[in-house]
Amino acid sequence: MSGQSARVPYLNSKLQGFGSTIFAEMTALAAETNSINLGQGFPNYDGPQEVLDAAVDAIRSGQNQYPPGPGVPELRRAICEHQLRFWGLSYDPDSEVLVTAGATEALAGVLLGLLETGDEVALLEPMYDSYQACIALAGAVTRPVTLRPPHYRLDPDELRAAITPKTRVILVNSPHNPTGAVLDRTELQAIADIAIEHDLIVVSDEVYEHLTYDGIKHVSIASLPGMKERTLVISSGGKTFNTTGWKVGWVCGPAAMVAAARAAKQFLTYVSSGPFQPAIATGLRLPDSYFTALAADLEGKRNHLMQGLTQAGFEVFKPQGTYFITVDIRPIQGDGDGYAFCRSLPHKCGVVGIPNVVFYDRAHQHEGRHLVRFAFCKQYEMIDDAVSRLKTMS
Ligand code: PMP
Ligand code: GLN
Repeated sequence: MSGQSARVPYLNSKLQGFGSTIFAEMTALAAETNSINLGQGFPNYDGPQEVLDAAVDAIRSGQNQYPPGPGVPELRRAICEHQLRFWGLSYDPDSEVLVTAGATEALAGVLLGLLETGDEVALLEPMYDSYQACIALAGAVTRPVTLRPPHYRLDPDELRAAITPKTRVILVNSPHNPTGAVLDRTELQAIADIAIEHDLIVVSDEVYEHLTYDGIKHVSIASLPGMKERTLVISSGGKTFNTTGWKVGWVCGPAAMVAAARAAKQFLTYVSSGPFQPAIATGLRLPDSYFTALAADLEGKRNHLMQGLTQAGFEVFKPQGTYFITVDIRPIQGDGDGYAFCRSLPHKCGVVGIPNVVFYDRAHQHEGRHLVRFAFCKQYEMIDDAVSRLKTMS
């Protein structure tokens, strides 16, 4: 659920409970209190120069009007090349790819385009906040399957138990926000088996596809046998190229499913991010060494923040991917109220985190109450500064 659970005047009943996203609330609090923002996940450094230059060139060469509805052809081709190079997946750039306003709009387009009122969506909990809101907007129902610390592994029996005759979609997110779990082949195969057995669509949010550590490699569930024809893969350029503000995302999948998502998407933004689309195409064509170096750099930052958070007294759960670390705050704040902790932390020591409780269903709040997420996509000096401030809490 969102940060605010109080009734919001005028807001329709579908969106009650989703009044304001936690990211807006916590980033505003960081600005107000001049705190270090380890809450909302965005790097405090730029992406590759080639990608920035390509955006400037696109603006200067007049690519500033509406791009084509499905996305600029150059980007759609680059997305297909990237899917083939890294995950062995082959798509047709004309019919099987749709460019969107970030992965957020890809999710909205897919969920609003595919779901009927009353359909059910089985998904991993904790869950990224826009999932629940979009499922609610579609009039559909969320069926969460909880991943638990310390390792946040998927129990296939729990997923099986969440499937009903009304289930239409399994929504997967790996590498997983906020836990940092990366689903392994066995877990993905278990999801695939269930999807095939019940003839379900899989929506796979892979925005952190390149951010995996300790030699662990991301696997797209669409690459498993029998899955490409029932899977919509979603990603975006934000995390991979440190361009979260550009909002260039995409969906790849079977033509008929992509067309359904496009039908909804055309009435959301129609199109977006004109000159940033060719720039992300440049990024997707960078050599393998770029992607390897990105992960290696973030692995160092993960290790650094993990060590600092441990020294500050938290119980720390090691993420295998993403740029987030989840901690248990109870060694520091005995009552384990993560929301209260995150609201007071900026005032007490000038650091912002995200209370993981907002990523849980209303009925499962106890599972995430004592957990807090910190982002490590920050320069080392900022991580060090945040850690020394957090140490004053213990
Ligand atoms: N899915 C997940 C799991 C995310 O963490 C995010 C965060 N940005 C998104 C989707 C949205 O991506 P975008 O910024 O490209 O809209
Ligand atoms: N995906 C980022 C996060 O989880 C930012 C999300 C947002 O601001 N909507 O922190």
